Amino acid sequence: MIQKMTQFQEWMMKKLGFLMVLFIFLLALPDNSFAAAVDTKVILDGTELVQPENTKAEIIDKKVMVPIRVVSESLGYDVLWDKQAQTVTISKEGTLIEMTVGQKAAKVNTATVDIDVPPVIKKGTTLVPLRFVGEQMNLKVGWNNTTKTVTLTSPIPEVIIEEGGTDPVIPSPSDTGGTIIDGAIPSGVSTVSAISFNDNRLIVTTSGKVGPKIFTMKAPDRLVIDLPNSAFAPSFGDGQALNGSQMGELVITDSSDVTKVRYSLFTREPSAIRIVLDLRQATSYQLVSDDSGLYVVDLNVDGDVGGAPIVPPISSDGKKIVVIDPGHGGVEPGKVALTGLQEKIINLALSLKVEQLLRQVPAINVVMTRKDDTTLSLSNRAKLANALNADLFVSLHANGYTTSTASGTETYYARDSSIPLAKTIHRYLVEATGLRDRGVKYANYHVIRETTMPAVLLETGFMSNPSDLAVITNETVEMRMAKGIVEGIKEYLGIK
Ligand SMILES: [Zn+2]
Repeated sequence: MIQKMTQFQEWMMKKLGFLMVLFIFLLALPDNSFAAAVDTKVILDGTELVQPENTKAEIIDKKVMVPIRVVSESLGYDVLWDKQAQTVTISKEGTLIEMTVGQKAAKVNTATVDIDVPPVIKKGTTLVPLRFVGEQMNLKVGWNNTTKTVTLTSPIPEVIIEEGGTDPVIPSPSDTGGTIIDGAIPSGVSTVSAISFNDNRLIVTTSGKVGPKIFTMKAPDRLVIDLPNSAFAPSFGDGQALNGSQMGELVITDSSDVTKVRYSLFTREPSAIRIVLDLRQATSYQLVSDDSGLYVVDLNVDGDVGGAPIVPPISSDGKKIVVIDPGHGGVEPGKVALTGLQEKIINLALSLKVEQLLRQVPAINVVMTRKDDTTLSLSNRAKLANALNADLFVSLHANGYTTSTASGTETYYARDSSIPLAKTIHRYLVEATGLRDRGVKYANYHVIRETTMPAVLLETGFMSNPSDLAVITNETVEMRMAKGIVEGIKEYLGIK
């Protein structure tokens, strides 16, 4: 018993001695360096931002704060610092944020918004809340607490600013009404920065939660989406049609369900936007939203023409299963070029070349979602890959835009786990097309979202751009793209 006490006392002394040493060690350390052991990383669209030495992001009251230098140099926003008023003004493409050091009330355009942690000055550097700034600039903001990493994702669709443009046709009076007057955006109102329609999906990008209300109208069939408490962002008209009466429309040629998308500032008090889809026939739909300002009305639900996918037997011989998905097909042509050439044809031609090359790789089993001009729903494409327990999924598409100047190659992912695959294939694809590198981007597309393995969607070039179209339909370039895609797949899977 006595012996044991002695041992315990000895142990206590050792422990205390160690704590004393640790305490002195901590005192000797310069201020802050211990807390900053793990640097806060900021990743924008898959690329880590280089933060200037001595002015790095840090966490204050559980919020990531970044120096205004990072906002201007790395994010590329215009930043004004009024030293006397202690006010930071950050602006980009029609969005203007005004924050004052120590004040929780910030201004976004004309609205007053409360922020949890106001700007602070530390060691002569002004720090601003990154999430707040990012979200106001329509970035999707994510946070990984383990790696202390902020991920910023640019909004989709990318707003391409073009000169000129045609005057939109005024929405029909049966579903819009009232007098609409131009004016400033009232406070507390969310702004809509983009409306687009792609692959039978309406995509609406807003500055915050809007709580859309969707209903159908008969004779003629229409789908109406009301966005309460919303207005068009000042920059909206730069990227898409919007006339002086705050109305615009998109003529849709590549959808089996929709002929036209019309939108307007429906009421001014309260401010609300109405979007109307003119339908060929009544159709089912699904609202998909991440509640951070991206709303997708998906018409690719139910009514599958292709039926359940047939799962071919795959031997469990240790080979990697690669699913190649030629976009669209059958009754769904996809984009249509001015020459009349349909996207489904381009996608299938390239996919068959990819298949042919993959068949020569002994370590890979290739499965095609379609091998001819059949109609296949998006959900069945994803279900097929999931049922096969595939190792990766590649969907091939060609791009299109309302004007002929948009150009380049881009690769999409919908889940973070697909980013390495996207980056690898994109590198090879850009080299193969030789077109402008539009980068690796996030998009909430069904086939790459609903699949459970790394999945990417490739947009080889713009069919709406005559020179892009000539490139991506050229036999030599097609073969080069197919080789590039296969090289990317092999590199990602670690196959020699
Ligand atoms: Zn497509």
